[in-house]
Amino acid sequence: MFLDPHTLLVINVVNLLGLALLLPMIMGRTLSKAARAARYSLIVHASAWIAVILSEMCANYGLNLLLSTLSMCCYSGCNWLLFQALTGWLGPRRYGRLLCVLSVAMPIGYALMFASYEWRVGWANFLIAMQVAIVAAALLRSSTNLSGRWRYALCACLSLMAVLTLMRGVLGAFYSALYPSFAAPHPVNILSLVVANLTMVLGNVCLLVAWREEAEQQLERLVITDPLTCLLNRRGWGEQAERVFTSTLRSQQPLALLSIDLDHFKTINDRYGHEVGDRALQFFSDQLRAQQGAGDVIARIGGEEFCVLMPMAGDEAAQRFDRQLRAALAQEAVPALGIPLHFSAGLTYRQPTDTSLHHLLHRSDAALYEAKWAGRDQLIVHTMSA
Ligand code: GH3
Ligand code: MG
Ligand code: MG
Repeated sequence: MFLDPHTLLVINVVNLLGLALLLPMIMGRTLSKAARAARYSLIVHASAWIAVILSEMCANYGLNLLLSTLSMCCYSGCNWLLFQALTGWLGPRRYGRLLCVLSVAMPIGYALMFASYEWRVGWANFLIAMQVAIVAAALLRSSTNLSGRWRYALCACLSLMAVLTLMRGVLGAFYSALYPSFAAPHPVNILSLVVANLTMVLGNVCLLVAWREEAEQQLERLVITDPLTCLLNRRGWGEQAERVFTSTLRSQQPLALLSIDLDHFKTINDRYGHEVGDRALQFFSDQLRAQQGAGDVIARIGGEEFCVLMPMAGDEAAQRFDRQLRAALAQEAVPALGIPLHFSAGLTYRQPTDTSLHHLLHRSDAALYEAKWAGRDQLIVHTMSA
């Protein structure tokens, strides 16, 4: 079997272009910034290969210089875009600035050294290899966002490409007789073109998996989030609160639960309209978030009902939360909404006999009910004797 470098190059371009054009259809129009960057990276990558093929076909020195430099710009661009996609998916990554410098320096140096085959090929391949290695390393750093195994597969693909690119650079710079052009049928060149094809297909599968993982996470987030206030909803709160309950039970640390219900909320709606009611709910949620301590789990569990689970909170800390919330409302509600806002609350603590979160919920609800009966706008603390 004869593997002709030109044919391999064309196959690479056709594959890349096919993927770049098909991906918008598969991924749809509404994409996150990260997914969009990954898609653009693919398109720019395909453009780089097209520019390489065109430059290979071109005899005119000036045009060759222009097309070759354009392809180097595209290579830098596609690595940079891929890095941006990973930053979006995985969170901040290291060596972004270095990648930026390499991305700019590579095509500039390439154009300046164009007259010398050894220098330009050595320079470009060495810097591209470094760029790809930085992107590969970005995949290894742990992330709290996406964590699928696609990271390691993509990292392996990129690492392989970085090594082969480096080898091409060494060949071009020091063994130019063996590697006189990009399409030279040297085994390293043939191998890197075959591997480029393989890693491109595998790499793009990884990107699709990353995009799917991101979409799944967004969906999960939607399921547990209240759309009006962006707080957790009852379901999300239940899941997180159960985890906190179990861990405090295991560690025997204190746990407080505050149930809140806004007072006369129906009257607010009736008097000022549903829109003001909605704004009041959003405002109240902002105030809750402002009081939220580390580890507190806050949710809107019903229409105008909220819950705050406070791990590590003893009597003083839990009551302070209520007090500060009331003080913030007294100060901010009228300027922000044009109306005052009050709430009733029931507070309870985990007791040694509590085996489930429901025990706490039952008691904090009972205390809240008592606060309503006692005239509203107050906190009732449920004691076991009550
Ligand atoms: P109480 O002091 O006894 O709690 O009286 P209340 O009026 O707050 O309680 P009630 O249960 O009678 O009414 C709750 C109101 O909350 C009724 C409902 O229209 C309103 N509500 C529930 N969800 C929303 C919402 O998403 N937006 C708006 N604007 N109002 C809501
Ligand atoms: Mg209510
Ligand atoms: Mg109410």
